[in-house]
Amino acid sequence: MPFAETLDNLALRKSSAVRRFEQLIAPKSDAELESMAQTSRALTLRNFGRTMRLFAPLYLSNECINNCRYCGFSRDNPILRVTLSVEEVIAEAAYLLDAGFRQILLVAGEHPKFVSGEYLIECVRALAPMFPSIAIEIGPMKTDDYVPIVRAGAEGLVVYQETYQRGVYADLHTAGPKRDFDYRLDSPERAYAAGFRRLGIGALLGLWRWQDEAIALAAHVEYLLQRCWQAQITVSLPRLRPAAGGFRPLFSIRDRELAQLICALRIAFPQIGIVLSTRERPALRDALVSLGVTMMSAGSHTEPGGYTRRGLDHLHRTVRGRIIPPEFQDGEDKLATGQFEISDDRPPERIAAALRARGLEPVWKDWEQTLTG
Ligand code: SF4
Repeated sequence: MPFAETLDNLALRKSSAVRRFEQLIAPKSDAELESMAQTSRALTLRNFGRTMRLFAPLYLSNECINNCRYCGFSRDNPILRVTLSVEEVIAEAAYLLDAGFRQILLVAGEHPKFVSGEYLIECVRALAPMFPSIAIEIGPMKTDDYVPIVRAGAEGLVVYQETYQRGVYADLHTAGPKRDFDYRLDSPERAYAAGFRRLGIGALLGLWRWQDEAIALAAHVEYLLQRCWQAQITVSLPRLRPAAGGFRPLFSIRDRELAQLICALRIAFPQIGIVLSTRERPALRDALVSLGVTMMSAGSHTEPGGYTRRGLDHLHRTVRGRIIPPEFQDGEDKLATGQFEISDDRPPERIAAALRARGLEPVWKDWEQTLTG
């Protein structure tokens, strides 16, 4: 049974695990929340030790054929765009390697012409000798198209559903193949069938009531834990940030509620990874790390070429699929536009030091492809 069936019946039928999760995200007193935080801390310690995996995103391209109203890369936004050459990708990766990272997430907009399967395979193949852990966050693909990317050396796939509400999804995704809600929803299973061993899912918080998104996300986690039992499942809880296009979040989730959500996920699913990005500000990130988070990005740039200022000589704007030479506006930085603004711009070594100060060991590498063949 596809997950869509579970999702569409969620209002009428919830598993006992999801019902328990629903109670965990209900409003709580301070004392109840503190008790949840202690349980969550203990479970995280038991399952993951005093560790925090650190990774960095490497943006390959900000070309996209979709219009997602909340995203700076949307095709109708007149932003500065670039797709890095494989050599430029290697230069960006070398910078991250120097900074200590051994786990990277390759991110690209969805554009078959600029970000083809062949291009992705070449990028992964070039980086595999440098990084023991490579994950990708790209437009959904068929299983057969994922297989060569796994063979080239990628082991993780991240695909956020953005919102689990069909009507909201249709309203926010106004053009492009991403309009197909079910195809996106089934991506983690296709990726698992292709051999990916880390599957990352998430909802973009700010598009709908966070409680409804969280319940659907929990049901999705439960489903994937049963169907893709050999994979590690990770969950991200990104909150919307300002981006080109000026979309304003329609809903909000307060810091306290975000902390409660992290604890609820940890208590309901002790074995899953929970990811925290640089979308959140430093003080909040420092407070959340000991609650249940197991993986953090650090020192992130969301613009292709952002680490080393690569790709500047082929910056352009794209209008209806045609490349237009850029005319720069006064004061505009001659760098590709980022996907969204980050809040925590501390360099990786400062984030590592902040983790150590809280008794956590930053882990730059916890996977070695050669050990598993
Ligand atoms: S969210 Fe993804 S698919 Fe949508 S416009 Fe941004 S990069 Fe493209």
